[in-house]
Amino acid sequence: MLLRTLLVSAVLFVAPAVPANAAPGCSGYVALTYDDGPYAQFTRPLLAALRSARARATFFDIGTRAKEHPDLVRATARAGMWLGNHTWSHPFLTRATPDELSKEIASTQDELRRITGRVPTLFRPPYGDTNAAVAAEARRQGLDQVLWTVDTRDWTSPPTEEIVRSATSATAGGIVLMHDGYQNTVDAVPLVVQGLRAKGLCPGRISGGRAVAP
Ligand SMILES: [Zn+2]
Repeated sequence: MLLRTLLVSAVLFVAPAVPANAAPGCSGYVALTYDDGPYAQFTRPLLAALRSARARATFFDIGTRAKEHPDLVRATARAGMWLGNHTWSHPFLTRATPDELSKEIASTQDELRRITGRVPTLFRPPYGDTNAAVAAEARRQGLDQVLWTVDTRDWTSPPTEEIVRSATSATAGGIVLMHDGYQNTVDAVPLVVQGLRAKGLCPGRISGGRAVAP
């Protein structure tokens, strides 16, 4: 009996190519992320595009913008998206004083919690500008720091096809950086999701610094 248990354990221990909890057709997951919102002009169309593509994504909202558009933050949460902390005013955090650093993160946590009733667990430093002190402060406030594996550079206004090509180059576990605030990024959504699904990759959430099943 013991031997049998050991054998079963050994078999289970060999990591399958497809995660055990994978949905049909998903051999892996990619996290789509949208920074810098919410925006009156773009957030709702972006949410609509994601919903029609049956995709969930992570939105790293800026505190000041969230305060200005709480309805859009609520709409984002209601659409099944995950909300992350992208600081209060989008500064270069490695140049901030310890007090500024702490407040940039804490005020955004408070604002997002006040609006949605949920406490964010993910944090992305603006510009990916981080160091040990920034990472430690995020951790102290209960946040996992998240960067990315693919940068679409959608903020430089590339054509939609270029955003699609870049985003669909992601591999299993990858995290794609995009932004709330650009029409071409909204237009790219169906093609990005379709392109990833063609590779067996489905939209996922972020956990432990990588994309996993939602
Ligand atoms: Zn940003």
